[in-house]
Amino acid sequence: MKVKKNTRQRSEQMQQVSAGLRDVLGMTQWRKEHPKATWAEIEAAVDERINQLRAQLIQDVVQMGENKEWREMPQEERPRCATCGKPLWARGEQTRYLQTNGGEAVKLTRTYGACPQCGVGFFPAFMRS
Ligand SMILES: [Zn+2]
Repeated sequence: MKVKKNTRQRSEQMQQVSAGLRDVLGMTQWRKEHPKATWAEIEAAVDERINQLRAQLIQDVVQMGENKEWREMPQEERPRCATCGKPLWARGEQTRYLQTNGGEAVKLTRTYGACPQCGVGFFPAFMRS
């Protein structure tokens, strides 16, 4: 197999992040315990941990925008009814799981909203998926 040269230099920041992650993800320890690991075994071990990290990172970033507790926001800042424009009332939460490309599930919790005027209930469209 012809190996494509990596002409694009990885940034110094990425090298530092990797060095830190190697310890945090337990790869430094793993490597000591598997001194004869093959390329494929190393790749699989890294993938497994990165996929978990990836799912957690996606979850955190999504919820940064999603999980502002809008039930506690002043009315004028709350999500509005798509039909009449009234601020929604919070009506409990729903949790669901989305599958990531890495095979890990991401947990999303969203507040269910209801319109006091039309009585229609829905999830405010912070994110479509
Ligand atoms: Zn409405």
